[in-house]
Amino acid sequence: MKKLELHWQILIGMVVGILFGLGMTTVDGGAKFILNWINPFGTIFVKLLKLIAVPLIIASLVKGISDLKDISKFKNIGLKTIAIYIGTTVIAITIGLLLVNVVKPGEGISEDTITKLTETYANSGGVQDKLSEASKQRNTGPLQFLEDMVPDNAIKALGDNTSMLQVIFFTIFLGISMLLIGEKRAKPLKDFFDSLNEVVLKMVDLIMLFAPYAVFALLANVVVSSNDPDLLIALLKYALTVVGGLLLMVIFYMILISIFTKKNPFWFLKQLSPAQLLAFSTSSSAATLPVTMERVEEHIGVDKEVSSFVLPVGATINMDGTSLYQAVAAVFIAQALGFDLTFTGQLTIILTALLASIGSAAVPGAGMVMLVIVLESVNFPADKLAIGLALIFAVDRPLDMCRTVINVTGDATVASLVAKSVGKLHDNPKPKNWDDDYDD
Ligand code: ASP
Repeated sequence: MKKLELHWQILIGMVVGILFGLGMTTVDGGAKFILNWINPFGTIFVKLLKLIAVPLIIASLVKGISDLKDISKFKNIGLKTIAIYIGTTVIAITIGLLLVNVVKPGEGISEDTITKLTETYANSGGVQDKLSEASKQRNTGPLQFLEDMVPDNAIKALGDNTSMLQVIFFTIFLGISMLLIGEKRAKPLKDFFDSLNEVVLKMVDLIMLFAPYAVFALLANVVVSSNDPDLLIALLKYALTVVGGLLLMVIFYMILISIFTKKNPFWFLKQLSPAQLLAFSTSSSAATLPVTMERVEEHIGVDKEVSSFVLPVGATINMDGTSLYQAVAAVFIAQALGFDLTFTGQLTIILTALLASIGSAAVPGAGMVMLVIVLESVNFPADKLAIGLALIFAVDRPLDMCRTVINVTGDATVASLVAKSVGKLHDNPKPKNWDDDYDD
Protein backbone atom coordinates (compact mmCIF):
# COMPACT_ATOMS: atom_id res chain seq x y z
CA MET A 1 0.00 0.00 0.00
CA LYS A 2 1.26 3.47 -0.89
CA LYS A 3 2.23 5.41 2.19
CA LEU A 4 0.66 8.79 2.91
CA GLU A 5 2.78 11.74 1.87
CA LEU A 6 4.74 13.36 4.67
CA HIS A 7 2.75 16.58 4.79
CA TRP A 8 -0.49 14.62 5.20
CA GLN A 9 1.02 12.59 7.99
CA ILE A 10 2.09 15.76 9.79
CA LEU A 11 -1.26 17.43 9.18
CA ILE A 12 -3.10 14.43 10.63
CA GLY A 13 -0.75 14.53 13.64
CA MET A 14 -1.59 18.20 14.14
CA VAL A 15 -5.36 17.76 13.88
CA VAL A 16 -5.38 14.76 16.20
CA GLY A 17 -3.15 16.72 18.63
CA ILE A 18 -5.59 19.65 18.66
CA LEU A 19 -8.60 17.37 19.16
CA PHE A 20 -6.84 15.42 21.88
CA GLY A 21 -5.83 18.67 23.61
CA LEU A 22 -9.40 19.99 23.42
CA GLY A 23 -10.71 16.71 24.82
CA MET A 24 -8.22 16.77 27.67
CA THR A 25 -9.23 20.31 28.71
CA THR A 26 -12.59 18.84 29.69
CA VAL A 27 -11.01 16.14 31.87
CA ASP A 28 -9.82 16.79 35.42
CA GLY A 29 -6.01 16.77 35.46
CA GLY A 30 -5.95 16.52 31.65
CA ALA A 31 -3.64 19.51 31.18
CA LYS A 32 -1.22 18.09 33.72
CA PHE A 33 -1.25 14.73 31.99
CA ILE A 34 -0.34 16.35 28.68
CA LEU A 35 2.39 18.43 30.30
CA ASN A 36 3.96 15.44 32.04
CA TRP A 37 3.41 12.63 29.57
CA ILE A 38 2.90 14.07 26.10
CA ASN A 39 4.76 17.36 25.90
CA PRO A 40 8.25 15.85 26.51
CA PHE A 41 8.05 14.08 23.12
CA GLY A 42 7.47 17.40 21.37
CA THR A 43 10.35 18.96 23.28
CA ILE A 44 12.68 16.08 22.38
CA PHE A 45 11.82 16.50 18.71
CA VAL A 46 12.58 20.23 18.78
CA LYS A 47 15.85 19.50 20.59
CA LEU A 48 16.83 16.93 17.95
CA LEU A 49 16.22 19.43 15.16
CA LYS A 50 18.26 22.09 16.95
CA LEU A 51 20.97 19.53 17.64
CA ILE A 52 21.67 19.02 13.97
CA ALA A 53 21.24 22.64 12.87
CA VAL A 54 24.86 23.68 13.51
CA PRO A 55 26.55 20.63 11.90
CA LEU A 56 24.17 20.95 8.94
CA ILE A 57 24.91 24.65 8.41
CA ILE A 58 28.67 24.08 8.62
CA ALA A 59 28.77 21.04 6.36
CA SER A 60 26.43 22.49 3.80
CA LEU A 61 27.94 25.98 3.77
CA VAL A 62 31.52 24.67 3.46
CA LYS A 63 30.39 22.43 0.64
CA GLY A 64 28.54 25.30 -1.02
CA ILE A 65 31.50 27.69 -0.84
CA SER A 66 34.18 25.21 -1.78
CA ASP A 67 32.16 24.12 -4.82
CA LEU A 68 32.24 27.71 -6.10
CA LYS A 69 34.63 28.13 -8.91
CA ASP A 70 35.25 31.76 -8.25
CA ILE A 71 34.77 33.86 -5.18
CA SER A 72 33.15 36.88 -6.83
CA LYS A 73 30.06 34.73 -7.38
CA PHE A 74 29.73 34.45 -3.64
CA LYS A 75 29.78 38.23 -3.24
CA ASN A 76 27.07 38.43 -5.89
CA ILE A 77 24.89 35.89 -4.06
CA GLY A 78 25.49 37.65 -0.73
CA LEU A 79 24.54 41.12 -1.95
CA LYS A 80 21.46 39.89 -3.82
CA THR A 81 20.30 37.93 -0.80
CA ILE A 82 20.55 40.83 1.61
CA ALA A 83 18.88 43.23 -0.85
CA ILE A 84 15.93 40.90 -1.52
CA TYR A 85 15.58 40.13 2.19
CA ILE A 86 15.33 43.81 3.01
CA GLY A 87 12.92 44.42 0.11
CA THR A 88 10.50 41.64 1.11
CA THR A 89 10.57 42.71 4.75
CA VAL A 90 9.76 46.33 3.90
CA ILE A 91 6.84 45.09 1.78
CA ALA A 92 5.62 42.92 4.66
CA ILE A 93 5.69 45.86 7.07
CA THR A 94 3.91 48.09 4.56
CA ILE A 95 1.16 45.49 4.06
CA GLY A 96 0.78 45.25 7.85
CA LEU A 97 0.55 49.03 8.26
CA LEU A 98 -1.96 49.43 5.43
CA LEU A 99 -4.21 46.69 6.80
CA VAL A 100 -4.15 47.86 10.41
CA ASN A 101 -4.95 51.44 9.34
CA VAL A 102 -7.87 50.31 7.21
CA VAL A 103 -9.33 47.69 9.58
CA LYS A 104 -8.56 49.68 12.77
CA PRO A 105 -8.87 46.64 15.08
CA GLY A 106 -7.84 48.69 18.15
CA GLU A 107 -10.68 51.16 17.93
CA GLY A 108 -13.48 48.70 18.48
CA ILE A 109 -12.07 47.21 21.65
CA SER A 110 -14.08 48.03 24.80
CA GLU A 111 -12.73 49.61 28.00
CA ASP A 112 -13.84 46.49 29.89
CA THR A 113 -11.75 44.23 27.71
CA ILE A 114 -8.72 46.50 28.08
CA THR A 115 -9.12 46.47 31.86
CA LYS A 116 -9.56 42.70 31.92
CA LEU A 117 -6.51 42.08 29.72
CA THR A 118 -4.41 44.52 31.73
CA GLU A 119 -5.41 42.93 35.03
CA THR A 120 -4.71 39.44 33.73
CA TYR A 121 -1.40 39.99 31.96
CA ALA A 122 0.34 43.33 32.67
CA ASN A 123 2.08 42.03 35.76
CA SER A 124 2.28 38.42 34.63
CA GLY A 125 5.62 36.67 34.33
CA GLY A 126 5.18 36.40 30.55
CA VAL A 127 4.86 40.14 29.90
CA GLN A 128 7.45 41.13 32.51
CA ASP A 129 9.96 38.67 31.01
CA LYS A 130 9.52 40.23 27.56
CA LEU A 131 10.07 43.70 29.00
CA SER A 132 13.25 42.71 30.80
CA GLU A 133 14.61 40.90 27.72
CA ALA A 134 13.86 44.01 25.69
CA SER A 135 15.75 46.22 28.10
CA LYS A 136 18.83 44.01 27.65
CA GLN A 137 18.55 44.52 23.87
CA ARG A 138 18.04 48.24 24.23
CA ASN A 139 21.30 48.91 26.02
CA THR A 140 23.45 48.16 23.01
CA GLY A 141 25.12 50.44 20.47
CA PRO A 142 24.10 50.63 16.80
CA LEU A 143 26.99 48.47 15.58
CA GLN A 144 26.57 45.88 18.30
CA PHE A 145 25.17 43.35 15.81
CA LEU A 146 28.41 43.51 13.77
CA GLU A 147 30.46 43.02 16.90
CA ASP A 148 28.25 40.11 17.93
CA MET A 149 28.67 38.44 14.56
CA VAL A 150 32.39 37.85 15.07
CA PRO A 151 33.14 35.09 17.58
CA ASP A 152 36.31 35.16 19.66
CA ASN A 153 36.09 31.46 20.34
CA ALA A 154 35.15 29.13 17.49
CA ILE A 155 34.28 26.17 19.70
CA LYS A 156 32.07 28.30 21.92
CA ALA A 157 30.34 29.80 18.88
CA LEU A 158 29.66 26.36 17.43
CA GLY A 159 28.49 25.11 20.79
CA ASP A 160 26.04 27.93 21.30
CA ASN A 161 22.79 27.53 19.44
CA THR A 162 21.82 31.16 19.88
CA SER A 163 24.64 32.65 17.81
CA MET A 164 23.79 31.39 14.35
CA LEU A 165 25.42 34.41 12.71
CA GLN A 166 28.69 33.59 14.47
CA VAL A 167 28.53 30.07 13.09
CA ILE A 168 27.88 31.45 9.61
CA PHE A 169 30.74 33.94 9.94
CA PHE A 170 33.21 31.25 11.03
CA THR A 171 32.09 28.84 8.32
CA ILE A 172 32.30 31.38 5.50
CA PHE A 173 35.78 32.31 6.72
CA LEU A 174 36.76 28.65 6.71
CA GLY A 175 35.21 27.97 3.29
CA ILE A 176 36.86 30.97 1.64
CA SER A 177 40.25 30.02 3.08
CA MET A 178 39.78 26.51 1.71
CA LEU A 179 39.12 27.99 -1.72
CA LEU A 180 42.24 30.09 -1.42
CA ILE A 181 44.63 27.24 -0.60
CA GLY A 182 43.48 25.44 -3.74
CA GLU A 183 41.42 22.36 -4.49
CA LYS A 184 44.21 19.83 -4.02
CA ARG A 185 45.32 20.90 -0.58
CA ALA A 186 41.79 21.44 0.69
CA LYS A 187 40.57 18.07 -0.57
CA PRO A 188 40.75 16.06 2.67
CA LEU A 189 38.75 18.69 4.53
CA LYS A 190 36.27 19.04 1.68
CA ASP A 191 35.71 15.26 1.53
CA PHE A 192 35.13 15.27 5.24
CA PHE A 193 32.48 18.01 5.04
CA ASP A 194 30.84 16.42 1.97
CA SER A 195 30.43 13.21 3.86
CA LEU A 196 29.26 15.01 7.01
CA ASN A 197 26.69 16.81 4.90
CA GLU A 198 25.19 13.54 3.65
CA VAL A 199 25.17 12.04 7.10
CA VAL A 200 23.42 15.04 8.61
CA LEU A 201 20.79 14.99 5.86
CA LYS A 202 20.19 11.35 6.72
CA MET A 203 19.79 12.43 10.35
CA VAL A 204 17.10 14.90 9.21
CA ASP A 205 15.32 12.01 7.45
CA LEU A 206 15.43 9.91 10.58
CA ILE A 207 14.20 12.71 12.83
CA MET A 208 11.37 13.40 10.40
CA LEU A 209 10.08 9.85 10.83
CA PHE A 210 9.09 11.05 14.25
CA ALA A 211 7.49 14.33 13.04
CA PRO A 212 3.80 13.30 12.90
CA TYR A 213 3.91 12.10 16.53
CA ALA A 214 5.91 15.11 17.68
CA VAL A 215 3.49 17.65 16.20
CA PHE A 216 0.68 15.76 17.91
CA ALA A 217 2.46 16.35 21.24
CA LEU A 218 3.36 19.97 20.47
CA LEU A 219 -0.15 20.97 19.45
CA ALA A 220 -1.90 19.09 22.26
CA ASN A 221 0.30 21.10 24.62
CA VAL A 222 -0.44 24.42 22.89
CA VAL A 223 -4.18 23.74 23.21
CA VAL A 224 -4.12 22.90 26.91
CA SER A 225 -1.89 25.85 27.77
CA SER A 226 -3.86 28.42 25.76
CA ASN A 227 -5.78 31.24 27.33
CA ASP A 228 -9.36 32.03 28.21
CA PRO A 229 -11.44 31.68 24.99
CA ASP A 230 -13.41 34.89 25.81
CA LEU A 231 -10.22 36.92 25.61
CA LEU A 232 -9.29 35.25 22.35
CA ILE A 233 -12.65 36.28 20.89
CA ALA A 234 -12.21 39.89 22.08
CA LEU A 235 -8.94 40.02 20.16
CA LEU A 236 -10.31 38.31 17.07
CA LYS A 237 -10.30 41.42 14.88
CA TYR A 238 -6.65 42.11 15.70
CA ALA A 239 -5.69 38.46 15.18
CA LEU A 240 -7.51 38.33 11.85
CA THR A 241 -5.74 41.50 10.71
CA VAL A 242 -2.37 39.84 11.36
CA VAL A 243 -3.45 36.58 9.72
CA GLY A 244 -4.93 38.47 6.74
CA GLY A 245 -1.61 40.27 6.25
CA LEU A 246 0.28 36.99 6.47
CA LEU A 247 -1.99 35.45 3.83
CA LEU A 248 -1.33 38.41 1.54
CA MET A 249 2.38 37.69 2.00
CA VAL A 250 1.82 34.10 0.82
CA ILE A 251 0.13 35.45 -2.32
CA PHE A 252 3.03 37.86 -2.79
CA TYR A 253 5.56 35.00 -2.55
CA MET A 254 3.52 32.94 -5.00
CA ILE A 255 3.57 35.80 -7.49
CA LEU A 256 7.35 36.18 -7.08
CA ILE A 257 7.88 32.44 -7.58
CA SER A 258 5.72 32.32 -10.64
CA ILE A 259 7.19 35.43 -12.31
CA PHE A 260 10.86 35.04 -11.47
CA THR A 261 11.43 31.30 -11.27
CA LYS A 262 8.71 30.21 -13.72
CA LYS A 263 7.83 27.37 -11.34
CA ASN A 264 4.25 26.58 -10.39
CA PRO A 265 3.68 28.36 -7.04
CA PHE A 266 1.32 25.61 -5.81
CA TRP A 267 3.99 23.01 -6.54
CA PHE A 268 6.45 25.21 -4.63
CA LEU A 269 4.19 25.40 -1.57
CA LYS A 270 3.55 21.66 -1.68
CA GLN A 271 7.27 20.88 -1.73
CA LEU A 272 7.86 23.23 1.18
CA SER A 273 4.80 22.18 3.19
CA PRO A 274 6.48 19.82 5.70
CA ALA A 275 8.77 22.71 6.75
CA GLN A 276 5.80 25.08 6.99
CA LEU A 277 3.83 22.64 9.13
CA LEU A 278 6.81 22.26 11.44
CA ALA A 279 7.25 26.03 11.63
CA PHE A 280 3.61 26.24 12.69
CA SER A 281 3.96 23.48 15.29
CA THR A 282 7.28 24.59 16.80
CA SER A 283 7.00 28.41 16.43
CA SER A 284 10.70 28.49 15.72
CA SER A 285 12.38 29.08 12.39
CA ALA A 286 15.69 28.00 13.91
CA ALA A 287 14.30 24.58 14.86
CA THR A 288 12.72 24.26 11.42
CA LEU A 289 15.91 25.20 9.57
CA PRO A 290 17.25 21.67 8.95
CA VAL A 291 13.95 20.67 7.35
CA THR A 292 13.70 23.92 5.38
CA MET A 293 17.19 23.28 3.98
CA GLU A 294 16.36 19.71 3.14
CA ARG A 295 13.12 20.64 1.34
CA VAL A 296 14.57 23.58 -0.55
CA GLU A 297 17.63 21.67 -1.74
CA GLU A 298 16.26 18.23 -2.39
CA HIS A 299 12.69 19.00 -3.40
CA ILE A 300 12.61 22.53 -4.82
CA GLY A 301 15.96 22.18 -6.56
CA VAL A 302 17.97 25.09 -5.15
CA ASP A 303 21.67 24.33 -5.38
CA LYS A 304 23.58 24.04 -2.08
CA GLU A 305 25.85 26.84 -3.22
CA VAL A 306 22.90 29.17 -2.73
CA SER A 307 20.68 27.53 -0.11
CA SER A 308 23.48 26.81 2.35
CA PHE A 309 24.12 30.52 2.67
CA VAL A 310 20.70 32.05 2.01
CA LEU A 311 18.63 29.85 4.36
CA PRO A 312 20.65 30.00 7.61
CA VAL A 313 21.15 33.74 7.14
CA GLY A 314 17.43 34.10 6.41
CA ALA A 315 16.40 32.12 9.48
CA THR A 316 18.38 34.61 11.52
CA ILE A 317 17.70 37.95 9.87
CA ASN A 318 14.76 37.62 7.48
CA MET A 319 11.47 37.55 9.33
CA ASP A 320 8.73 38.92 7.14
CA GLY A 321 5.95 37.45 9.27
CA THR A 322 7.45 38.84 12.46
CA SER A 323 7.94 42.33 11.03
CA LEU A 324 4.38 42.42 9.66
CA TYR A 325 3.08 41.34 13.06
CA GLN A 326 5.18 43.98 14.83
CA ALA A 327 3.75 46.72 12.62
CA VAL A 328 0.15 45.59 13.14
CA ALA A 329 0.63 45.04 16.89
CA ALA A 330 2.28 48.43 17.45
CA VAL A 331 -0.51 50.33 15.70
CA PHE A 332 -3.21 48.16 17.32
CA ILE A 333 -1.85 48.95 20.79
CA ALA A 334 -1.69 52.67 19.92
CA GLN A 335 -5.29 52.60 18.65
CA ALA A 336 -6.60 50.71 21.67
CA LEU A 337 -4.91 52.97 24.21
CA GLY A 338 -5.71 56.20 22.34
CA PHE A 339 -2.05 56.97 21.61
CA ASP A 340 -1.80 59.30 18.64
CA LEU A 341 0.46 57.88 15.96
CA THR A 342 1.53 60.44 13.36
CA PHE A 343 2.46 59.68 9.76
CA THR A 344 6.13 60.09 10.68
CA GLY A 345 5.50 57.66 13.52
CA GLN A 346 4.24 55.10 11.01
CA LEU A 347 7.31 55.64 8.81
CA THR A 348 9.49 55.13 11.89
CA ILE A 349 7.71 51.83 12.42
CA ILE A 350 8.82 50.66 8.95
CA LEU A 351 12.44 51.28 9.82
CA THR A 352 12.41 49.96 13.36
CA ALA A 353 10.29 46.91 12.54
CA LEU A 354 12.83 46.09 9.82
CA LEU A 355 15.70 46.35 12.29
CA ALA A 356 13.70 44.61 15.01
CA SER A 357 12.91 41.64 12.81
CA ILE A 358 16.60 41.33 11.93
CA GLY A 359 17.39 41.43 15.64
CA SER A 360 14.66 38.97 16.69
CA ALA A 361 15.90 35.51 17.58
CA ALA A 362 14.36 32.66 15.60
CA VAL A 363 12.67 31.19 18.66
CA PRO A 364 9.10 31.22 20.02
CA GLY A 365 7.90 34.61 21.22
CA ALA A 366 11.00 36.59 20.18
CA GLY A 367 8.97 38.93 17.97
CA MET A 368 7.15 40.30 21.02
CA VAL A 369 10.40 41.26 22.74
CA MET A 370 11.45 43.37 19.79
CA LEU A 371 7.97 44.87 19.58
CA VAL A 372 8.90 46.78 22.74
CA ILE A 373 11.74 48.45 20.82
CA VAL A 374 9.35 49.33 17.97
CA LEU A 375 6.91 50.91 20.44
CA GLU A 376 9.67 52.88 22.10
CA SER A 377 10.85 54.24 18.77
CA VAL A 378 7.53 56.04 18.35
CA ASN A 379 7.78 57.48 21.89
CA PHE A 380 5.12 55.23 23.33
CA PRO A 381 4.95 56.06 27.09
CA ALA A 382 7.26 53.75 29.02
CA ASP A 383 4.78 53.30 31.87
CA LYS A 384 2.20 51.93 29.45
CA LEU A 385 4.43 49.33 27.79
CA ALA A 386 3.30 46.54 30.11
CA ILE A 387 -0.35 47.39 29.39
CA GLY A 388 0.37 47.44 25.66
CA LEU A 389 1.92 43.98 25.72
CA ALA A 390 -0.87 42.71 27.98
CA LEU A 391 -3.37 43.61 25.25
CA ILE A 392 -1.85 41.23 22.72
CA PHE A 393 -0.39 38.57 25.00
CA ALA A 394 -3.41 36.25 24.99
CA VAL A 395 -3.20 35.63 21.25
CA ASP A 396 0.55 35.79 20.87
CA ARG A 397 1.23 32.08 20.67
CA PRO A 398 -1.20 31.30 17.81
CA LEU A 399 0.03 34.38 15.94
CA ASP A 400 3.63 33.33 16.57
CA MET A 401 2.83 29.97 14.98
CA CYS A 402 1.39 31.70 11.89
CA ARG A 403 4.14 34.30 11.51
CA THR A 404 6.84 31.64 11.79
CA VAL A 405 5.30 29.87 8.76
CA ILE A 406 5.69 33.11 6.80
CA ASN A 407 9.25 33.61 8.05
CA VAL A 408 10.19 30.18 6.71
CA THR A 409 8.24 30.60 3.44
CA GLY A 410 9.95 33.97 2.87
CA ASP A 411 13.40 32.42 3.30
CA ALA A 412 12.59 29.61 0.87
CA THR A 413 11.16 32.05 -1.68
CA VAL A 414 14.26 34.26 -1.57
CA ALA A 415 16.54 31.20 -1.84
CA SER A 416 14.67 30.19 -5.01
CA LEU A 417 14.82 33.70 -6.50
CA VAL A 418 18.54 34.09 -5.82
CA ALA A 419 19.23 30.59 -7.16
CA LYS A 420 17.31 31.31 -10.34
CA SER A 421 19.15 34.60 -10.86
CA VAL A 422 22.55 32.88 -10.76
CA GLY A 423 21.46 29.84 -12.79
CA LYS A 424 21.41 27.51 -9.77
CA LEU A 425 17.76 26.48 -9.65
CA HIS A 426 17.54 22.95 -10.99
CA ASP A 427 14.54 21.80 -12.93
CA ASN A 428 14.13 18.29 -11.71
CA PRO A 429 15.45 18.00 -8.20
CA LYS A 430 16.29 14.40 -7.46
CA PRO A 431 16.09 13.65 -3.79
CA LYS A 432 19.44 12.06 -3.03
CA ASN A 433 18.92 11.51 0.62
CA TRP A 434 15.23 11.06 0.65
CA ASP A 435 13.93 8.03 2.37
CA ASP A 436 11.34 6.37 0.17
CA ASP A 437 9.88 4.77 3.22
CA TYR A 438 7.95 7.80 4.22
CA ASP A 439 7.63 10.05 1.24
CA ASP A 440 7.45 9.66 -2.47
N1 ASP B 1 8.92 32.59 16.38
C1 ASP B 1 9.43 33.40 15.31
C2 ASP B 1 10.45 32.59 14.52
O1 ASP B 1 11.13 31.75 15.05
C3 ASP B 1 10.01 34.68 15.79
C4 ASP B 1 8.89 35.52 16.35
O2 ASP B 1 8.21 36.20 15.58
O3 ASP B 1 8.63 35.48 17.56
O4 ASP B 1 10.60 32.78 13.35
